[in-house]
Amino acid sequence: MVTDDSKNIDKYKALHDLRDRMDRDDGLPLKTKETKLVFGSGDTKASVLVIGEGPGATENLLGLPFVGQAGKLLDKLFPLAGLTRSEVFITNIVHHRPPENRDPTPIEISAYGKYLDKIIEIINPKVIITLGRYSMAKFLPNVFISGVHGKKHNVFWKGRDIVVIPMYHPAASLRNGNVLALEKDDFLQLKEKLVKMKEEEKNKIPESEQMSLV
Ligand code: URA
Repeated sequence: MVTDDSKNIDKYKALHDLRDRMDRDDGLPLKTKETKLVFGSGDTKASVLVIGEGPGATENLLGLPFVGQAGKLLDKLFPLAGLTRSEVFITNIVHHRPPENRDPTPIEISAYGKYLDKIIEIINPKVIITLGRYSMAKFLPNVFISGVHGKKHNVFWKGRDIVVIPMYHPAASLRNGNVLALEKDDFLQLKEKLVKMKEEEKNKIPESEQMSLV
């Protein structure tokens, strides 16, 4: 019998194996002697996946995502949405630090994309929170973050239904107080959205209990 426990152990193992495979992949364009793989961290059975842009200096040092200044802000934003870091899984669009923290190029995004797709497949989240325009563009191309931030988007992505909620990148909020105010409000409103989605999920009749009376 496949129990929830065995499914979760499988997820943990699958992510571990993927991380090892990625670490051995010398074809990854941002892999250098100076860069450490920042695969992701958090709850492997999370229903919420958070995707940022790419590791900065502190992340590269520690091998963990969002542990620098932007991460400190993110830790303050999560509770506004009733979340903690330990109950979500956090990863990035690229998993090695771009030199001088420059933006990742389309070629780099595509090279790391095949691993990110696999992370999404394994975690199988109900909700993806994107931080900044690069992770947003993976699911919502051709939109401006100023027009869609904080809103819920039902996306059919690679055969699965996912709710994508684009947020401003915390680094942008650290630079601009107006963006910070918008982002705080978006996280506050995210709390209501997550509660409502949980309620809807609870009220769904499981397929095994459905019956057509004809
Ligand atoms: N910014 C990101 O986008 N990701 C990190 O992991 C850290 C900072």
